[in-house]
Amino acid sequence: MIETINSSSQAIALEDKYGAHNYHPLPVVLSRGEGVYLWDVEGKKYYDFLSAYSAVNQGHCHPRIKDALIEQAGTLTLTSRAFYNDVLGPFEKYITEYFGFDKVLPMNTGAEGVETALKIARKWGYERKGVDENQAVIVVAENNFHGRTSTIISFSSDGNARKNFGPYTPGFVKIPYNDIAALEVVLQDKNVVAFLVEPIQGEAGVYTPAEDFIRNASEACKAKNVLLIADEIQTGIARTGSLLAVCGNCTCEGHCEKQDTYTKPDMLILGKAISGGFYPVSAVLADNHIMDVIKPGQHGSTFGGNPLGAKVAIAALEVVRDEKLAQNARKLGKIFRERMQILVEKYKILKLVRGKGLLNAVVVNDSPDSSTAWDMCVSLKDNGLLAKPTHGNIIRFAPPLVMTEEQLHDCCDIIEKVVKEFEK
Ligand SMILES: *Cc1c(COP(=O)(O)O)cnc(C)c1O
Repeated sequence: MIETINSSSQAIALEDKYGAHNYHPLPVVLSRGEGVYLWDVEGKKYYDFLSAYSAVNQGHCHPRIKDALIEQAGTLTLTSRAFYNDVLGPFEKYITEYFGFDKVLPMNTGAEGVETALKIARKWGYERKGVDENQAVIVVAENNFHGRTSTIISFSSDGNARKNFGPYTPGFVKIPYNDIAALEVVLQDKNVVAFLVEPIQGEAGVYTPAEDFIRNASEACKAKNVLLIADEIQTGIARTGSLLAVCGNCTCEGHCEKQDTYTKPDMLILGKAISGGFYPVSAVLADNHIMDVIKPGQHGSTFGGNPLGAKVAIAALEVVRDEKLAQNARKLGKIFRERMQILVEKYKILKLVRGKGLLNAVVVNDSPDSSTAWDMCVSLKDNGLLAKPTHGNIIRFAPPLVMTEEQLHDCCDIIEKVVKEFEK
């Protein structure tokens, strides 16, 4: 028998009893979403300030993406790549032109996108750079987050994500984030094939590096014939106030390759908002001289590039461009940080605010082991705003990018009210 949910406690009890305990959710049970709003089972309305970790940049249940999904769901959903389909080609043309790369390799989840990029980089290293078999090294940053596969957690700094999941995949070296000198040292090893990096470290607590970090990393990599792989699964697709975080402070909508701000990575990994929260789609973009190392049978996925996902992704990317979400994220992000800065100066319980566009974090002024950030998020929930603490005593604030200025001020008022409570 399938139970009908009548209360939050009933839904929580079911998940607790029948589901693996691999998450620690805030105690709220959601049953509906629209734009920047979510509703729980009891009908209480909330502002979403997480956006499913930046997967719903376009807002919940965006009608245009929904229509694309429904139409394609009644036409053709999956053929596998054993055959061609009439949506994949147009999607590939659209997304490569949108982001300015020769080719795309479509997958489903973000972690699969990262795995794909790592495999391509290694193969490129052996076949194009001339690295000896099985000697390839990939450089990563400390406190990275790139997903949950056994290879990816092999180079995680998060003990909880790693412990007792070994033996770990070799071939990775870790350097401090935002440290060009450390990068230059490890690049001396001629077996290094790639540097995998987040332009802003989201999971780690929204660490924004020096303005010229990605630019300098790219130049250092180029000098050593090493691929720069940008993981923009969280930062990409308008979240940080430009189309991609590697666009720097470029204020145009869409892709432009302005020399003074844009740093083109050799590989770009996208996921999350590429499908606006409707369906798992991820993608790796690269130019021909890199992507061409992959030949039939060497990599793939049953669902990767399926017509349903491809249609959804086209619609999701159109929404980002047509509704000028990057511009809105840039404008609202500035207002948000200004308002939070006032709180930081006024209340001792807040240490600082940082971020870019609408990917921001507030660091709570308490021991990293205390539960203050969690307790604040529970109180924010009670006051109608949903956010989640991330590593340490940090609260990430990342609302859907379709938010209005008035709504944002309303949200800042809620946050101020809660901060005030905790000051006592
Ligand atoms: C979320 C995320 C991933 C993993 O994506 P999944 O879809 O959860 O597998 C990888 N890298 C970054 C930067 C992310 O934010």
